[in-house]
Amino acid sequence: MSENTAAPAKPKGKKRLELDPRLAAYKGIWVFVEMERGQVHQVSWELLGEGRKLADILDVELSAIILGGSSEELGSAARSAFTYGADLAYIVADPILTDYRNEPYTKAMTDLVNKYQPEILLLGATTLGRDLAGSVATTLLTGLTADCTELAIDPDNRGLLATRPTFGGSLLCTIQTLNYRPQMATIRPRVMAMPDAVPERRGRVISENLQMQEDDIIAKVLEFIPDEAQEQAQLAYADIIVAGGRGMGKAENFRLIWDLAAVLGAEVGGSRPVTHAGWLPADRQVGQSGKTVRPKLYIAAGISGAIQHRVGMEASDVIIAINNDPNAPIFDFATYGIVGDAVQILPVLTDAFRSRLA
Ligand code: FAD
Repeated sequence: MSENTAAPAKPKGKKRLELDPRLAAYKGIWVFVEMERGQVHQVSWELLGEGRKLADILDVELSAIILGGSSEELGSAARSAFTYGADLAYIVADPILTDYRNEPYTKAMTDLVNKYQPEILLLGATTLGRDLAGSVATTLLTGLTADCTELAIDPDNRGLLATRPTFGGSLLCTIQTLNYRPQMATIRPRVMAMPDAVPERRGRVISENLQMQEDDIIAKVLEFIPDEAQEQAQLAYADIIVAGGRGMGKAENFRLIWDLAAVLGAEVGGSRPVTHAGWLPADRQVGQSGKTVRPKLYIAAGISGAIQHRVGMEASDVIIAINNDPNAPIFDFATYGIVGDAVQILPVLTDAFRSRLA
């Protein structure tokens, strides 16, 4: 176990690290509910599901933090947050918060933290969440563990155990923030399971004002230009993914991947070497340094199953691996394996599914 703060001297004979008693005033678990243009990012509900488990272990409240420009949208997000497990929603509605900008969001979040003192603060490891988490942690001078794959509570000191890959994904490390609060962590979309909504669940709302004027903010939003490419690759939330690796041989062979995906209504993904080679766009990379996915079906063609790829897709319900090496690591965790040449097998599968689904 490592730690991201200077550790106090360990008492003799004690194996576990003790938390500083000064930090006992910090109570409760907070989840940042990420909203952009009125849409809540699903990772927020995934984190509320995980936050609920941690809050129950600690016997504390779970709160949703919702920032934005429209009280109506925030109110609706709060109602949804309650159905996914939140007891409480802290809301800051201000026109300044309509579009995400680091400065006012950091101010709103750090003001809330300083006033209400949560012990744990979780954010999605999205573009927005990563940007906000870093500035909130540095403003509050607290520890942040990024891109966690697992969260747990240390039964001895009630501290957050935040686990994440390290040394290029070959090892997992568990990090504790011992001397500062809140303990912050970001988690990528799809790493945590989506909780079931309980429609009749209700909670309390606390509204706060943003202590900031538009003139205080350097960054101005002039225009919103949607990223068409990103909107097309909905890999993280796809039900079916057909993915190709270096074993596909060359860029042209990826047509076979796209053909099968089209018949199945699937998204296309790939391993890092193929995105690096330009056979696929970078936002279609699955794995530790790409996307984490949880489809019902993941078809992996010509992918060896290296740990850095595996961590991004092993939560798939069913994995079908096509590989010409019977000893390829992917067969150790695939649900079904087909040993053979993917370039020959893929068109056969495509024809078979086409005739079945027609
Ligand atoms: P290879 O390992 O080259 O495997 C190709 C496979 O195809 C082999 O098993 C071979 O038997 C099979 N094959 C060959 N020909 C055929 C054929 N005709 N038909 C069927 N099968 C065939 N990788 C990722 O994927 N995603 C990441 O996010 C990622 N992040 C990384 C982060 C770090 C810090 C590091 C160090 C590495 C990362 N990697 C990542 C790289 C990872 O370690 C592997 O190198 C990569 O996953 C291998 O990709 P591959 O399986 O496509 O290629």
